[in-house]
Amino acid sequence: MKLSRTYLPLLKETPAEAVIASHRLMLRSGMVRQQAAGIYAWLPLGLKVLKKVEAIVREEQERAGVAELLMPTIQPASLWHQSGRYDAYGPEMLRLKDRHGRDMLYGPTNEEMITELVRAGIKSYKELPKTLFHIQWKFRDEVRPRFGVMRGREFLMKDAYSFDLSPEAARRSYLRFFAAYLRTFARLGVKAIPVRADTGPIGGKLSHEFVVLAETGESEVFTAKGLVEKTPPPTSLDYDGDLEPLFAEWTGTYAATDEMHDEAAFLALPEDQRLQARGIEVGHIFYFGTKYSEPMQFAVEGPDGRAFVEMGSYGIGVSRLVGALIEAHHDDQGCRWPVPVAPYEVGLVNLKTGHDGTDGACHRLYDEAVAAGLDVLLDDSGDRAGEKFARMDLIGLPLIVTIGPRGVEAGQAEVKDRRTGAKQEVPLTGLVDYLR
Ligand code: ATP
Ligand code: MG
Ligand code: MG
Ligand code: MG
Repeated sequence: MKLSRTYLPLLKETPAEAVIASHRLMLRSGMVRQQAAGIYAWLPLGLKVLKKVEAIVREEQERAGVAELLMPTIQPASLWHQSGRYDAYGPEMLRLKDRHGRDMLYGPTNEEMITELVRAGIKSYKELPKTLFHIQWKFRDEVRPRFGVMRGREFLMKDAYSFDLSPEAARRSYLRFFAAYLRTFARLGVKAIPVRADTGPIGGKLSHEFVVLAETGESEVFTAKGLVEKTPPPTSLDYDGDLEPLFAEWTGTYAATDEMHDEAAFLALPEDQRLQARGIEVGHIFYFGTKYSEPMQFAVEGPDGRAFVEMGSYGIGVSRLVGALIEAHHDDQGCRWPVPVAPYEVGLVNLKTGHDGTDGACHRLYDEAVAAGLDVLLDDSGDRAGEKFARMDLIGLPLIVTIGPRGVEAGQAEVKDRRTGAKQEVPLTGLVDYLR
C-alpha cells in the first residue's frame, strides 16, 4: 500500500480520554476512531491488525478441528425465552423491536442460537462430538466502556461451542480448546496464562480464563511465576490424542482469578514463585454441561437412551487483543508490532519524493517486495524526513527501509529494526530477499 492511497489520519495530541498506552496509540496512529461511547470505526491501519489477529485465531481453531460458521448479529428474543436468559441477562443486552413489534436483540453471545442450530440437525449420538466457531461482532451495553477497544460496547469475538454425549467426552472437547488457546496466544505474540475461573452460580464444572499480564489490566490474578515462561505446544500437537498430560502440566501449578483465589494454596508456593498481578482477560473457556440443552430440549438418542447434550463455550476477544498486543509491545515512540500481527511487515521511506533516482528505486523495490508476498507500506509523501521517521516509529512496523539519493548512488538502503533500533546498510540488489 502507498501512503498516498490509504487513509492514515494521525493525531498530534493525545485525546484526554485515553489513559492507557494502547488506547492512546490506537487513536494517535489512526487505527480506530470512536463513533459513540465504546463503538469504534476501524480505519485501514487498525483493520489490517484486526484481520491478522482474526486469521491466526481462525487457523488455530481449524487446526484443532473446529468448523467455522457465521451466525447473525441480530437475534430473536424468542430464542432467549427458551433458555430463560431473556429476563435474566439485564441491561447489558441491547434490546430492539422490528417494524412488526417483534422483540429482537443484538447478540451479546450465541449459546441459544447455536443450540437451536445444532438441535435442528443432530438426532443421534453417532453424530457427536461437534465443535463450531464463528467470529462475529457482539454488543454488550457495558456500564463503563473504557480503554478504547479493550472494553468496547461493540466488539469482535471468536466464540466456539462444543456438543458431546457425555461429561467425559465434553472434557476432551474442553481440552482441545485449552490447547488451541495456548498455541493461538503464543502465535499472536502475547503471553497469556490460563487461570482457574469462576463457573458461576449454575455449574461447578470447568472454566479457565486466559490472561495477559499487564499493569493496566482490569482483572486480578494470582499465579506461580513459572507459568508465564512455559513453552506452548508445537504445531505437531495431535488434537485427537490424549491431551490430559498437557492439561495437567499447564494447570498443575496454582493460578486463579480473584473470584477463585485460595490464599492458603497461594501461600503454599515458595515465596519467590508467588505472583499477584493485574491482567487482561483475552480468552475464556467454559464447560457448563446441560445448562442450555436441558431448557432448550436438545437431547440425542444415546446407546443407553435419550440424554441431554453436554455443552461448552469458548471465547476469544479478537478486538480486545489488538489493544492487549499494544500494551505488551510499545515504547515511547509508538507501537512495536510483532511480525505476525503487524499491519505491514515493512515500511519503506522515500527520503526525497520527487527525486527521480529515489522515486525509481523506491517503486522498483516496492513492486518487487509486493510480488514476493511482503506486506509493505510505502511513504511516498512529500513530508520532511523527520516527520516520515516519526510516523513510521508511531505506527510501529517491524522493519523500516530508508532510501535516499545518496543511498541510491551507492546502491544501498538503510534497514532499521523497530524493536531493537539496530540499523544496517543493505545493498539494493537482494534487499527483498533480506527482508523476507
Ligand atoms: P470481562 O470480564 O472483561 O467483562 P467477560 O468475562 O464478560 O469479559 P466473556 O463473556 O468471557 O467476557 O467473553 C469472552 C471474551 O470476549 C472475553 O474473554 C474478552 O476477551 C472479550 N470481551 C468481553 N467483553 C468485552 C468488551 N466489552 N470489549 C471487548 N472485548 C470483550
Ligand atoms: Mg463482562
Ligand atoms: Mg470476565
Ligand atoms: Mg469471561
